[in-house]
This record gives sequence, C-alpha cells and structure tokens, in this order.
Amino acid sequence: MSNAPSLEIKVDQAGYAIGARKVGFLIQPVAGQTARYVLRRQEDGKAVLEGSWTPPVLDPDSGDRVQTADFSGWNSPGIYYLDVRGVGRSWPFRIAADVYQHAYYLTARSFYGQRCGTTVDLGPEFPGYHHDACHKVGTFDPSSGRDGSNVSSKGWHDAGDYGRYIVNSGIATATLLWAFELWGKGGIRDVSLHLPESGNGTPDLLNEIRWSLDWMLTMQDADGGVWHKQTSAHFCGFISPDKDDFPSLVIGVGKSPFKTSCATGDFAAVMAIAARVFSPYDRDYANHCLAAARKAWQWLGTNEQIVFRNPAGITTGEYGDSRCSDEQLWAAAELARTTGELPFDSYFIKHYKEFLVGISADEPPSNSDMSAFALWTYALSEGRNEVVVQEIKSLSIAVALSIAQRTESHGYRISMTTKNYIWGSNGVAANYSLQLLVANRFQRDRRFVEAAAGNVHYLLGRNPFSLSYVTQLGSNPVRHIHHRPSAAANLNAPWPGLLSGGPNAKREDPEMQKLLPETTPPARAFLDLQSSYGSNEVAINWNAALVFALAGLLSD
Ligand SMILES: [Zn+2]
Repeated sequence: MSNAPSLEIKVDQAGYAIGARKVGFLIQPVAGQTARYVLRRQEDGKAVLEGSWTPPVLDPDSGDRVQTADFSGWNSPGIYYLDVRGVGRSWPFRIAADVYQHAYYLTARSFYGQRCGTTVDLGPEFPGYHHDACHKVGTFDPSSGRDGSNVSSKGWHDAGDYGRYIVNSGIATATLLWAFELWGKGGIRDVSLHLPESGNGTPDLLNEIRWSLDWMLTMQDADGGVWHKQTSAHFCGFISPDKDDFPSLVIGVGKSPFKTSCATGDFAAVMAIAARVFSPYDRDYANHCLAAARKAWQWLGTNEQIVFRNPAGITTGEYGDSRCSDEQLWAAAELARTTGELPFDSYFIKHYKEFLVGISADEPPSNSDMSAFALWTYALSEGRNEVVVQEIKSLSIAVALSIAQRTESHGYRISMTTKNYIWGSNGVAANYSLQLLVANRFQRDRRFVEAAAGNVHYLLGRNPFSLSYVTQLGSNPVRHIHHRPSAAANLNAPWPGLLSGGPNAKREDPEMQKLLPETTPPARAFLDLQSSYGSNEVAINWNAALVFALAGLLSD
C-alpha cells in the first residue's frame, strides 16, 4: 500500500532542472505523523537521499498545510520519486538539464492542433489526432459593414470553441513572438515542432506563429481598421471542427466605423513585432506586416475608443474591453521599437505615465490590459528616452522582487493571491512567470527565475490536486478538458499540450455550482470535467504564457 502514488505528495511531474531548486510537498493528513522522506531512483528503488520535512505552512487559498522536502543538492540525471513511510510515494519525475524541453515541445505544438482552415494530423506520435480542413471561407456578417465572402482562413481556434478573436490572438501571438525574440537564439530556435513547414529554413515557432498572423492580416479592412472577431453566430455542438457547418462570420460592431480600437491596437502591436522578428527570415513578409501595422495605427488616430459589444443575434465570446488606450500605447511602443521613428516614440512618452500602474504585483498582464507589454517593450528596446527606460526597469524589478518574496513564503511557492483564482487562473500563474522572466532581463536575479519556476511546477503537478494541468504531460494529467476536438474524437486522452484554465473561485458554470459548495477554497474550485467550462476550458493565451515561461526556463 505504501508504494502507490499518493495525491498527498506533490512534485513537478515533468521534473526539475539540474542546478535549480528541487522541492516536493507533503500535505499531512494527521499532524506530526511523518517526519522523513526518501528520494529513490525509479529503476531499482535505490535510496539516493534522505531528509526531513519542514514544519507545515498553511496555504489559506487551498486550506492545505504544506510541508516541504528540499532535495536541491541532488543533481544526478535520472528518474526518481519521493517515498514517505505511512503515506506512499510520489509520481515519478526527472532530474535533467533539458527537463522543460518536452513540456515546451508539447505546449508549443498544441497551437498546430488548434489550426483552423487546414487538415491537422499529429502523426505517428499521436495516432488518430486528426481533423480535416475546417472553416475555409469567411462571410461578412452585416455588423461588419461589408457583404459577400472574405478569404479568411488560418488562425488558431481560440479555446474549446472554434471562434477566432483578434484581441486574444493578439496577446497569444505576441507572447509567442516575444518568447522567440528573447530566447530564439538559444535552445528553442532549433526545436522541431513537426509541422508541415518544418525544415523550410524558418524556425518552427515562427512557422506556427505565421499561421496566426496570416489570418489576422485578413481581418484588416481597407481603411486600416480591424474587425473584432470571426466566429459563428452561436457556439456549435461538441463536434469536430470540420463537421461545423455554421457560417464563419467576420463580425463588427454593427455601425460605422464597424471595426474596434482594441482589436486594431492589438493588431498594430503584433504586426510591428512580427516585422522585427521575421525580418531575417522573410524580408517581404516583414515589410508586409509593418505596412499593415502602420495602416492600423493611422486608423487609431481617428478612432481611439470604439469598443466591442456583441451585435444582435451573435452569442459567441465577446472579449469585451472598455478601455483601448493601453492597446494603443502598446502599438506605439512596438512601432517605435521596430522603426525607431520619432512620432511613435513621442506618443509613448506623452502617454506612458498613466499606465505605470499596469506593472502590478498582484495582477500580471492579460488580454484586457496590455499596459505592461507596452512599457516592457519600450524598456527592452532601450528606447530613445533613457530616463523613461530606467524608470520602467526600476519599477519592473521592484515589483518582481515583491512577487518573488511573496512566492518564496507561499505554502505552494506560487505567486498567486486569493483574488487571482479567476476564470483562467492557470493563465494568471503562467503570466506571473512571464512577468518575472521579463524582469530577469532587466536585472539578473536568481529569485525571479526560481519564482517563475515555482509557478510552472504548480501547473505541472505541484498543486492541491497533484494534477498536471497540461494534457498528456506527466503521470497524472488533466483528462476531461472542455475542448471540442478532444470531446468529438474517440480517443483515450485529450489533444496533447493544452493548459486547463484551472481553479475559478466564482464557480462560473452550472457544473461547479452543482458539485462544489460555496465554501470551496479558491484553489480547489476546479473540476476535471468536460462540462466545467469555467474551470477546465483551454485557451491560446493561457497556453502561450506557459510556452513563454518554459522557453525562458530552458534558456535562463
Ligand atoms: Zn476551423
């Protein structure tokens, strides 16, 4: 009995990097019952290290009293588990230099699985994970101000549904572009994602990103403005994407100017980054992206605050955002970084101060607030105004230090606060890692990297459920995500590499309302059920933040 994996012992099921801190947790059912742990080699059960658990630290968000085993000193590569007499053993984990490589591969490749407009097949590694081409033709909804069809395929299915939304594609695509820009010279450049384009001379992460950019480019109107989304009028059933025959509609706000400022700002920012990043690989494409970004910027000049609400008859996701000035600031900053031109810089300098609050210790960036991205890209570019660059760097470092200190004293060694257990809380955890790794660019600090790793460990199994929140990663991964392709196919496991949304204290679906009492601790408000879209849906922006964190941890 003592040899079965116990949910009470928590480890990162992917593992721990050589030289990094290695910590496992124990939730003690009865106080004072256990005091020792043994680190054993998987292949023969040989004990390689023994130690004591620390006294417990209460995590009020889960109600768990968390004890810690620190085996950081053990750096021999291999597969291990923790053994606790009277409790059991942990799930196995690796200690290796490249421990995040497979996690990076799966999570980055998951975007290929989300591709719209084409046949997708994960090949012999995942036999049966296949769908035929879907949503090949777009139709202008009357709310777009246009009629007829729009050749508007490609892009990524946003989440568990088949919609495509510029604002969420925007942050997801930008996050992946930034990951490449920051770490593409290191390990991730040469990682093959086994794409149809692999081997074409362009790094695979960029090949995948281009699939999204190509769709986004089709969403720009001749006047430079960008429509908000392309979805059906209503969500389809739990069918394969190629079986979805609802018209795929380009949707606008229903009256002039039809396009929205948040979408157009995001678009301009993303295309400006793409122009930088693609320049060494495809100069023409980079120029095309930059021209699109400039046109979008011009449109914003006379349309600063056109916000989106679903027009009559449309019920798909809204990605509502009542303020678009942060997106506009972000566009200015990325355009300044790419072109070096004074007008973009001047706009940024004139407006940046009111967005400094966006670099926050308890709320990392999200699709509705891109302020921090705007400020960071200016500082990363060493923009024209050195005083402002220093101001942004100092603030980012101070905030990161406060996050890292809070993480260090948290029972689960994560950056999450009680109010962070919102819809998509796992995306919040991943975005804390993004924030910490950006700060580490401004000032190297091992504490930032360890805190970033702590959030990743949480996502990969070191959490109240001892569950890897990434499909097909680790020995005990999430199994019943809210994801149409996974539900429609007769497969043993969901599509791989997808990050579940995670605990949602507001219990925002009928299943959670029914099965979880109101008193459920925030970090436990989660159901591994397909019907729990409030806690177990997937989304490209959450996945992108995890890819970013893994790419950073592989490199920094
Ligand atoms: Zn599709």
